[in-house]
Amino acid sequence: MTDPVPFYRHDLSAADAAPIAAVLDSLFLTTGPVARSVEAQIADFFTAPGALLVNSWTNGALAALLALDIGPGDAVIVPAMTFIATANVVKLLGATPVLVDVDPGTLMLTPEIAAAALTANTRAVIPVHLYGQMADVKGLRAALPPDVAIIEDAAHCFEGSRDGDAPGIHSDAAIFSFYATKNVTCGEGGAIISRNPDLLARIAETRTHGMSKTAIDRFAGNAYRHWDQAVLGVKANLPDLLAALLPGQIATIRDRLPRRAARAARYRAAFADGPLRLPQPVPGGVDAHHLFTIHVPPPVRDAAIDALNAVGIQVTVNYRAVHTLSYWQAQGWRADDLPVAADWGDGTISLPFFPSMTDAEQDRVIDAVRRQVYPLIDAARCHPAPNAQLSIASAR
Ligand SMILES: *Cc1c(COP(=O)(O)O)cnc(C)c1O
Repeated sequence: MTDPVPFYRHDLSAADAAPIAAVLDSLFLTTGPVARSVEAQIADFFTAPGALLVNSWTNGALAALLALDIGPGDAVIVPAMTFIATANVVKLLGATPVLVDVDPGTLMLTPEIAAAALTANTRAVIPVHLYGQMADVKGLRAALPPDVAIIEDAAHCFEGSRDGDAPGIHSDAAIFSFYATKNVTCGEGGAIISRNPDLLARIAETRTHGMSKTAIDRFAGNAYRHWDQAVLGVKANLPDLLAALLPGQIATIRDRLPRRAARAARYRAAFADGPLRLPQPVPGGVDAHHLFTIHVPPPVRDAAIDALNAVGIQVTVNYRAVHTLSYWQAQGWRADDLPVAADWGDGTISLPFFPSMTDAEQDRVIDAVRRQVYPLIDAARCHPAPNAQLSIASAR
């Protein structure tokens, strides 16, 4: 049998090892001159006053929430259609994640949904730029009181925009992930941008235990300088060893987007006449095309995954809705509290999607979906399970 079509294949090669070797020849293995220069590159990319590299989106979000002094008694609004990290960081700090539903077309948080969930305790909202499209951050800013912070989960959206605005323009901070499968990657990592220099300065401390000086500052000019701790922080700084992988990718990310867009357009054209539901494009948006997801009636989703796997197509699920997972169910959340996110999460499948994918690989995926998945959908519509009527109706 031919090799399976992988879900993802990264583009890094032996050439990317040279900057790492250069770090090994230098004094700083941890956060030093390479990280500084990548931070300047990212700030420049987003025309932001500053950027901070972090060792994951998750630790970066903890540092940002700590810098905003968010903790017990505070509520933070989080859409249920996201990776669990978005909600977990709020919970880890003892604040209350207020999970909310999403727009049925784009699967993202809207200003109306966020405004409806506001209470006197709301301190922040974390919109998620799902699959590469951007949520309406400008609209959110207009709909929310000025003292409610907006932190963008831009893990899927480094190179996307909405109405000409990139992440970080209308929010207090935008946080990116450089996890292994993200559009820009160093294995594990991330970055935070903000238009608020005071907040950036606070995050620079909460990113490194709450220390007032980083390692590179402590030894500046060969003279030791004391550091102090004024606040509580996490350990979220990115070492130069990993930061060294980023400059080449950031420099070429916009040039590489058309390849992702072309792959996505090819899938969309192939499925245009079929029964799949796809996320709705945001008008005026530039999609970073991080993932390509489809939706089938929930009762046949797992059978569809098995059928694709059986013909050598690797797929994954992004995401089962946060509130449908055991941890959140144990805290009293019910699937039908947030029905749109629950239905999408129970029916979605992420197809193989990466820039170096070949036409032949993509054709195999398209063929498998049409031959294996379409008949399952047809069968489900002819003979719906008693409790499946609602989701099938909404999938039309
Ligand atoms: C990947 C991801 C995260 C977490 O990123 P890490 O860098 O792995 O911590 C958070 N939110 C979303 C939407 C993600 O896809």
